[in-house]
Amino acid sequence: MTTIPPLDLTEQYRTIEADVSTAVLEVLASGRYINGPIVEAFAQDFGRYIGSDECVACNSGTDALYLALRALNIGPGDEVITSPFTFIATAEMISAVGATPIFIDIDLDGLNFNIDQLAAAITPRTKAIMPVHLFGRPVDMERLMAVADHHGVPVIEDCAQSTGATWGDRKTGSIGQIGCFSFFPTKNLGGCGDGGAMTTNDPEIAATARMLREHGSRTRYYHEAIGVNSRLDAVQAAILQIKLRYLDGWNAGRHAVAERYQALLGAVPGIVLPSSPAGGGSVWNQYTIRIESPAEKGGEWRDRVRQFLMDQGIISMIYYPVPLHLQTVYASLGQGPGSFPNTELAAHQVLSLPMYPELSVEAQERVAHGLKDALATL
Ligand SMILES: *Cc1c(COP(=O)(O)O)cnc(C)c1O
Repeated sequence: MTTIPPLDLTEQYRTIEADVSTAVLEVLASGRYINGPIVEAFAQDFGRYIGSDECVACNSGTDALYLALRALNIGPGDEVITSPFTFIATAEMISAVGATPIFIDIDLDGLNFNIDQLAAAITPRTKAIMPVHLFGRPVDMERLMAVADHHGVPVIEDCAQSTGATWGDRKTGSIGQIGCFSFFPTKNLGGCGDGGAMTTNDPEIAATARMLREHGSRTRYYHEAIGVNSRLDAVQAAILQIKLRYLDGWNAGRHAVAERYQALLGAVPGIVLPSSPAGGGSVWNQYTIRIESPAEKGGEWRDRVRQFLMDQGIISMIYYPVPLHLQTVYASLGQGPGSFPNTELAAHQVLSLPMYPELSVEAQERVAHGLKDALATL
């Protein structure tokens, strides 16, 4: 029995190995390892791909969020509204600049934050709204921007999981004031290490972010702000530049995998499949179902289903087991269990099935079969 991993980066690498090796060796021979032409060339390619005038490459998606918040001059006393159902980095960077994350509950259909609750959460202290296009599924950016613009609050899109996703005819990361991307290896456009980028149409925001990522300096050894060291490595830029050319094809591959799951699992009772938003295109960073928990199955039902799959060599993942408001680090916010019912329910029910462009039909059939078996026999 071969194992079906949640994702397999080696299959994809083999298809581009020759190009990547050549490009990496060229960087190594060039002696330019930090900044330099390849980093700028990639940043330009990526900005063009997203549809933004400016792109600031940096060391990670986390740093992109940090630079975005700092570039908007957000700090102590300020509030930023975001989702409690996301990777920690989203809220963590709001806290890192000294501001306070304000969570609003998610809607169970999209697992993104509920835009209906947005206006009520805006206060005079609100300095940004930070939607997360979770699992590659875009937030309804038309409705979001209407609320944000009405209140004059800038929007920072967390696009770490949504590189290539669209709302209407625009890509996520080009619709709000700033888009933040991660090139962590498991993301839709992943490098061979850490990497990230910030996109914007505002040249001043971009210039400030560039200054902050270079120790707060515009001219070397002259410092005007407390910044950080957050550059994209030339080796990563070279790899990402090649991979960017394949991204749309890989995202199409993910889409086909999602459609096959939809067909294989559509009629299975007891699970809720991820929905596709009417106005946008998901890039399926994850294919995340919800295992409904009938009372008679007990509280650990989803975890038992997951273990059953694991015993068959099918590895699924739980993104995310603990919502951010219930994390130890955010106990001080005073939002205990029951604060965000949909988020807490999702954390108990979600299961991300194996998802990557090269996933075979046979493997998907095994996943579907295993899942049906678990629900019928456990
Ligand atoms: C991965 C991720 C980040 C952080 O990106 P890194 O490159 O790992 O720092 C931020 N937000 C979300 C939603 C993510 O999934």
